[in-house]
Amino acid sequence: MSAGLTLALSKGRIFEETLPLLRAAGVEVLEDPETSRKLILPTNRDGVRVVLVRASDVPTYVQYGGADLGVAGRDVLHEQALAQGGSHGLYQPLDLKIARCRMSVATRADFDYAAAVQQGSRIRVATKYTEIARQHFAAKGVHVDLIKLYGSMELAPLTGLADAIVDLVSTGGTLRANKLVEVEQIMDISSRLVVNQAALKLKREALRPLIDAIAKAVSA
Ligand code: ATP
Ligand code: MG
Repeated sequence: MSAGLTLALSKGRIFEETLPLLRAAGVEVLEDPETSRKLILPTNRDGVRVVLVRASDVPTYVQYGGADLGVAGRDVLHEQALAQGGSHGLYQPLDLKIARCRMSVATRADFDYAAAVQQGSRIRVATKYTEIARQHFAAKGVHVDLIKLYGSMELAPLTGLADAIVDLVSTGGTLRANKLVEVEQIMDISSRLVVNQAALKLKREALRPLIDAIAKAVSA
């Protein structure tokens, strides 16, 4: 591990919404990932750099020390914790309250989800979040066949691939545009700051003030 701090972010929503918090904490990212092809972005602070990774790779980078800290959605963190048997040993000091949405079950309007659940039917569920879905339906005593997808989940019920999907919903616009209805909410989602456990000890002098400054920015 280098002496400086490496912060893992994903492009898009999380990057955009983390920037103002970083700025308030005195960290300015000096390049725009939408126009630059660089994966390592310098900041105005000598010892602080940002690395751009896939949203679902952020916990992995932080867990194994490729980054000292990162920002990841509760969806990604919970899914990976379940996949690793309950915990990934990441320190999660802060809910940043950004990239807020919810994880929900959605179906075609003409699929009677309540009746299917009540009758104990097997339901085919397509999702990127197979661990969260498995846990959710098991807790309800609903039998499901899970189909793993990596994107465009809305298409699954429309093509007959699945009866239902488990996916993230914010405004509901994407569901409406595809004539799907939200039939159950599973959990509220927002992004969290995650910190490598070893870095927290070895780089405490650099990390602690940054975490505290971001915490202040969140509550401001
Ligand atoms: P990748 O493109 O790498 O496969 P992704 O498509 O999941 O990842 P994004 O869509 O940018 O990446 O989502 C990143 C994170 O933003 C998600 O893990 C979630 O926490 C949050 N997020 C996703 N969709 C929404 C949404 N509609 N509203 C608010 N936050 C969302
Ligand atoms: Mg994406």
